[in-house]
Amino acid sequence: MARNTLSDLFSRTKSLDGAGYGAYKKLKGAYSESGLTVSIDRVQADPYASPSKVRLILPMKVASIPQHLVDDATGRVAVADFLARRIQADPNRPRNVHVGDIGQQVLERTHVLVTPDRVEARLLVGLPAKGRRILGRQAAHLLADDLPNLSDDCLRHDRFDPADVQALEDHVALLRDQDALRAQLKSRKLVAFVGNGAILPRAAGDSDRPLAANRATSFESPESLSQTFELPSGRTVTGMGIPEGLTVIVGGGYHGKSTLLRALERGIYPHVSGDGREWVISRADVASVRAEDGRPITGDDISPFITNLPTGTDTSHFSTTNASGSTSQAANVVEAHVAGACALLIDEDTSATNFMIRDHLMQRLVPNNKEPITPFVQRVRSLYDATSVSTVLIAGGSGAYLRLADTVIAMDAYRPSEVTARAHDIAREGEAPEETEEAEDTGEFRHATARRILARGTLSSRKPPKPRGLSTISVDRSDIDLSAVGQLVAPSQTAAIAAALAWLSKNADGQTSLVDLVVRLERQITEKGLAVLAPGRDHPGHLSRPRGAEILAAANRYRELKLA
Ligand code: ADP
Ligand code: MG
Repeated sequence: MARNTLSDLFSRTKSLDGAGYGAYKKLKGAYSESGLTVSIDRVQADPYASPSKVRLILPMKVASIPQHLVDDATGRVAVADFLARRIQADPNRPRNVHVGDIGQQVLERTHVLVTPDRVEARLLVGLPAKGRRILGRQAAHLLADDLPNLSDDCLRHDRFDPADVQALEDHVALLRDQDALRAQLKSRKLVAFVGNGAILPRAAGDSDRPLAANRATSFESPESLSQTFELPSGRTVTGMGIPEGLTVIVGGGYHGKSTLLRALERGIYPHVSGDGREWVISRADVASVRAEDGRPITGDDISPFITNLPTGTDTSHFSTTNASGSTSQAANVVEAHVAGACALLIDEDTSATNFMIRDHLMQRLVPNNKEPITPFVQRVRSLYDATSVSTVLIAGGSGAYLRLADTVIAMDAYRPSEVTARAHDIAREGEAPEETEEAEDTGEFRHATARRILARGTLSSRKPPKPRGLSTISVDRSDIDLSAVGQLVAPSQTAAIAAALAWLSKNADGQTSLVDLVVRLERQITEKGLAVLAPGRDHPGHLSRPRGAEILAAANRYRELKLA
């Protein structure tokens, strides 16, 4: 069979002019010319359905990306990210052609695929119509002229101007350096790093872009916490290392505490040049934890924090459809721990006070044996000493953590200083005798939550789980609310999580724990790519890689979750 050319695509599309919209289906197939293949993989049924799926495929020979940029996984992710950003920013990109959501982070995505042998852009294309009639001439130009131009302008390295060639080199070098820095944190016993000169505040509450440099105070590390890293590109980066153990961030209201913690939360992701957080790097498995009243809990062991409920309920296998502030935060801590978090990030602004502290006056009025909650302040030390889980905690309103802290950082007008010794002195002087009497500490976190076995069919729904924006996944008629999952950054991650839930449901065998299933899925993604989440589809749509922790977070918030 003769191969279809782009001229065939043009004439075939033009001939559909005026036909009913459904006739677009006839275009399905691949069309090749001068090294480019335009593959029309799925055609929308009507103008209002989700757009058609089209791939632009170039052999690496044609795309001609220099070998040294794509010879490792990090390089391929960086190049794919760069090419996707180019398509998104191309002034000639038609308005109804989309390459997916792209924010300030560099993520492993399906938007553009770079392998040693080819480059593929996965586009969503709204095919033009007037009412329900095909606009054939317009569609022909779109598919057979505009898309090949987009491919030439954005995907072919031999057409880059010198500034773009350099920009790509820099983009790849930056990601490799960020990865290398992150990889060194553990051996330096740090949980996170904030480079000098970083711009942490964002332009607005609903924007992930940096605050204008002339309005922001750039970050400067205190001398005592300063760390320097030599990176593969030859660059040297200096800034503040946050050590393992308990770090307490103090300071007056509005002095930049939450902004620092938010940056650390997002430090699990690499950021693009110019973001201001390029050198805010956290270990890959730090977890932000907050109160989230109203969330469901299924079979968690929250007994380290909650026991002796007035109802007599067993809190080592605790379930509720409507958690309180303190129980939800307890569940979030336990789940993060089980998901493998090396550090918890906790902000007083989003915590339940009765989960965090209980002062000595209250202990006198309501004796410990009448209080189901063992506050986090009585567990935070053993959490680290027994299980090596560090905590970075903002406490502007209570001194209860000072004496327990390994490091105390004071924020003053957005500038950090280290005040550990002074904080310890003050804590010792101010201590009321009652306060030294801690509740007995089990010293261990129990792992019943880790052993929760996912029941067969537990997540299966009649229709596949459907992502809605960043923070919701609908499973049949039940919505999973992810708005408190603070380290989710892209709707395409949510789409990947929805697909991951379908995978979990298919692979649940009534014997494997939820955590082990997610570990297995993550291994497959690492080996075979995100395409494992879109089996049987050449065009997987727009998916970005979530961490296992966020996949678990979604499963844990599913109201119909069934355990074996
Ligand atoms: P806190 O948690 O200490 O009360 P926030 O982190 O919420 O303070 O910051 C208060 C305000 O200051 C926010 O509007 C934030 O965007 C802004 N801000 C934070 N850090 C900086 C900075 N380095 N430079 C300028 N503004 C900042
Ligand atoms: Mg705050």
